[in-house]
Amino acid sequence: MVDQFSGHCLCGAVQFDCSAEPMFQANCHCDDCRRSGGGVYASFVFVDASALEISGKTHTHQHLTDAGNTITKHFCPSCGSQVYAENTKTPNRWGVRVGLIEDATWFEPKANVYASRRLPSTPIDPKVNAFDKMRG
Ligand SMILES: [Zn+2]
Ligand SMILES: [Zn+2]
Repeated sequence: MVDQFSGHCLCGAVQFDCSAEPMFQANCHCDDCRRSGGGVYASFVFVDASALEISGKTHTHQHLTDAGNTITKHFCPSCGSQVYAENTKTPNRWGVRVGLIEDATWFEPKANVYASRRLPSTPIDPKVNAFDKMRG
C-alpha cells in the first residue's frame, strides 16, 4: 500500500495528487462503469476527498445508482479520460480511476462489485470478495 500517489489524464490537462493512503480499492463490473470508460470493467481507489488535490478543470456527468444516490463522474473535457467520481452517499470519499495513476503497481482490489454483470471472459480472482451489487 502507498500513502501518496499522483496521476494525470491522457492529455495531461487534468492532474491529481493524493496525500493519503487509499481507504478502499475495488473493481466495478457495472454497465455504467463499462460505458463511461469503454473498458470491460473499471478499477477505483477510494480516498478522502480532502487528501486529493486536482488541477485542471473537469467536466461532469451525473446519474443515479441503483440505490437512488447520485454519482458525479468527473472527466477531462479535452481527452475524455474519466478521472474520479463522487457519490452523495459518501460525499467525502472519492473514487479515483486507477488507470490514471502514475505507478499503480501497488493496486490490489479488495472487492469485485457487480460481479454478477462481469463479462464471461473477464478473469476474476476467487480470493477477492465478490458482490452482486454496490451498497450505495
Ligand atoms: Zn485530458
Ligand atoms: Zn460501476
